[in-house]
Amino acid sequence: MRFDIPAGARHILQTLNDAGFEAYLVGGCVRDLLRGVAPHDWDICTSALPGETETCFVGQRIIETGLKHGTVTVLEGGEPYEITTYRTEGPYSDSRRPDFVRFVPDLEEDLARRDFTMNAIAMDLDENLRDPFGGAEDIKAGLIRCVGEPAQRFQEDGLRVMRALRFAAVFGYEIEERTARAIHENRAMLDRVSAERINVELRKLLVSKNAGAVLRQYPDVFCQFWPQLSPLVILEQHNPWHCWGGWEHTIHAVEAAPTDVTLRLTMLLHDIGKPACKSTDEQGIDHFYGHPAVSALLADQMLRALKFDNKTWEQVVLLVERHDVQLPPRSQVIRRWLNRLGPEAFFQLLEVKRADNMGQAPEKVKDSLADLDELKAKAEQILAERQCLTLKDLAVDGRDVRAVGIAPGPEVGRVLEELLERVLSGEIPNERTVLLKLVM
Ligand code: ATP
Ligand code: MG
Repeated sequence: MRFDIPAGARHILQTLNDAGFEAYLVGGCVRDLLRGVAPHDWDICTSALPGETETCFVGQRIIETGLKHGTVTVLEGGEPYEITTYRTEGPYSDSRRPDFVRFVPDLEEDLARRDFTMNAIAMDLDENLRDPFGGAEDIKAGLIRCVGEPAQRFQEDGLRVMRALRFAAVFGYEIEERTARAIHENRAMLDRVSAERINVELRKLLVSKNAGAVLRQYPDVFCQFWPQLSPLVILEQHNPWHCWGGWEHTIHAVEAAPTDVTLRLTMLLHDIGKPACKSTDEQGIDHFYGHPAVSALLADQMLRALKFDNKTWEQVVLLVERHDVQLPPRSQVIRRWLNRLGPEAFFQLLEVKRADNMGQAPEKVKDSLADLDELKAKAEQILAERQCLTLKDLAVDGRDVRAVGIAPGPEVGRVLEELLERVLSGEIPNERTVLLKLVM
């Protein structure tokens, strides 16, 4: 056998076949096998009705949650396998699940409801393919192509617009021309898709290797669910730091960032406030004073609208707001920022600044990249030496301060804050005797 298919999946196909039913691996797993990538889950489709499938697996653990849509989940060796009866789908009017499904006798009818040719291939137990739409060819060519008439398929379910872009970004595939045209023309179908479904695809897209190419080719699609991007897409910036317009700079910054959803989102949104802050001086040089705060405000709106989780949302807004702060590589500066942000956000901020720099005129950024390396090394050293960064680390506490005669109350906190301030700046060492003497 040519493909690495788990014994559990083979056993399920065999059991269904033995009971006289057709059964195939289908969808993402077949696509990934043909791409030479290990599938992350295994979907099976069958001519058996859900009740018949359950009968085939009596005595085994079965999960019935998908029953209404024809799906029976069977556990084999601890792994869940979704077994779905051949079906067609009604429209997605609530944009989450199809309104209804209808069981059909024929595999090809089931394959025809699927979105792209590469996702509409079935494989039987002997590894023979059923591939009525030429999906295997398209995988070889690295092409994403709709099954059937592209415009109609995007109108049935607008999420397919984002799925096409996500697959293009993750696999580095091209979108076939007619499919690409239909994406541009039907992007407004995304208005009917829930924020949660768009969010899932957008995350996967952004952390992919080819996110930049997709942002470059389909800005109109991103503007559809985030209209706040539109002014940035057409923003020109005439100044010595920038060799690109706003959108191209953003794309370079996204590409330069590590493949982490917080960092990628930060780079996508960091300059979103620039168009509103643009001014041009007498020399014809553009300035964007105050743009980080405006960017943070817009980013806050946009992340809420797309229902990002609290942690991602908070981190991105903070990083967008701080992306332009000056960070000279001096220990007292680093200690202050470590105190203010905590180590995780501080190191994220360094990554953000690096990515931002990589999107600027190359001859201008050599020094700042070297500074960033120095900042990182010094911060790591400060943390390794467990230097004092917070009130908790201070060599004295409230009790000590009261013991030398400061009356209990807000004054105690104020004194501690001041001591911390002086320790952070390097003015005094974090030593108990020194600190107490100062208080007295
Ligand atoms: P992934 O690797 O992300 O799991 P996938 O293609 O397996 O990709 P799933 O969401 O797991 O994506 O869907 C399984 C299969 O169901 C797809 O391969 C495709 O055949 C079909 N499918 C999923 N979503 C849609 C959709 N919105 N429209 C049409 N067919 C879809
Ligand atoms: Mg899948």
